[in-house]
Amino acid sequence: MSNSELSKLLLDWYQDHGRDLPWRVKGGAHPDPYIVFVSEIMLQQTTVATVIPYFQKFIRRFPTIFELAAANLDEIYQYWQGLGYYSRARSLHATAQIIADKFAGEFPQNKEQILKLKGIGPYTAASLLALGYNLPETVIDGNVIRVICRLYHLDQPTEKIMPQIKKLAKGLSSKERPADYASAIMDLGAVICTPKKPQCPVCPWHESCLSQGKAEIEQIPCRHKPPKVEKNGFVYLITDQNGSIFIRKRIEKGLLSGLWEFPWSSEKELFPAAVDSGLKVSHIFTHIKLTLNIRCLQNNALPDSGLFVAPEDLCSYPFSTLMKKVWKKAGSVLFTRGKTLQ
Ligand code: SF4
Repeated sequence: MSNSELSKLLLDWYQDHGRDLPWRVKGGAHPDPYIVFVSEIMLQQTTVATVIPYFQKFIRRFPTIFELAAANLDEIYQYWQGLGYYSRARSLHATAQIIADKFAGEFPQNKEQILKLKGIGPYTAASLLALGYNLPETVIDGNVIRVICRLYHLDQPTEKIMPQIKKLAKGLSSKERPADYASAIMDLGAVICTPKKPQCPVCPWHESCLSQGKAEIEQIPCRHKPPKVEKNGFVYLITDQNGSIFIRKRIEKGLLSGLWEFPWSSEKELFPAAVDSGLKVSHIFTHIKLTLNIRCLQNNALPDSGLFVAPEDLCSYPFSTLMKKVWKKAGSVLFTRGKTLQ
C-alpha cells in the first residue's frame, strides 16, 4: 500500500474515532495557536486525562494570550497546582508576555524564531506549527514512535534509529491536512496501538503492518530506560510558641521554584536539633525517587527568610505536590488545626 493510501486510511479512521479533546478541532480546521500552545505546555510530562480539567479551568480564566501575559505569576501557579513541573508555568507566562508585547499576540510561523521562546523545544515547536497553523511539520512523540516502529517492524533501540523513524513518519503525512495527520497518528498510538495488547484487528493499518500477529509486538519499540535514582532527605515542620508553622518561598530557579515549602534538603541535615516524627513521604520525579523523613522543631526565631503561618492559613499558599504530601501525612497526626492544602 502506498504512503498516500495509508495516510487516507488513517485520516478516515481519525474522523470517526479520533479523541474529542478540548483543545482540538477536527475536519481540516485547526484551533487557535494559543490554545495549542497552552495544551502542549501542559501535556509536557503529564497525561491527557490529567491535563483536561486543568486546561479547561485555565482557559476559562485566561481565554487569550493577552490575559495570560497580564496575569500575576502567583495566580498562574494557583491554576497550575497539582500539574507539577512548575517551571512550565513560568515559561508559559514569559512566552505569553513576549508574544503579546513583541508579536502583537501572534506566534511567529517560523521554527527558528519559535525555538527561541522559553519552554518551547523541537517537539512543542513542531506541534504548534502543525496543529496551530496546519503547516507540514512532523510531530514525533512516544505514541508516534511506537506506531511507526510497529508498522515497519523496527526492533532496534529507538535512540539509534530516530532519523529513520522521523523520515518514515514524515512520509506518511498528509500534504493537505498536516494538523489532522499529527493528531491522528498520536491518537492511533494512544487508543489502538497501545504499549500492551494493541487492538490490531480494528487498526486502519493492520493490512500493511509488519508487526501485527507477531509474538514480540509488545517489545516494540525497543527502549533503554535509565534506572531511577533513589534519594533520601529531611523535611522540617518548625513551629513557634503559637503553633504557627514556618514556610519559605523557593527561589525563582530550578525545580519547584516560586512555590512555598517547609524547609527540606536531600543533601544535608539542616536542623540537627529537630526530632524525628517517624513519618516519611516519597515522591517520584522523572528519574528520581525522593524519600523525606519528617522532623519537628520548636523555634521562635525565623530559621532564614520565610514566615510563620497558622496551620489553618497554609491553604492560601501554593505548595508543590511533594509538600502537600508532607502536610497530608503529618498535618493530621502532629497538628490539630489546619486544612488540606489546595
Ligand atoms: S496493526 Fe497493530 S501493531 Fe500494527 S500499527 Fe496497527 S495496532 Fe499497531
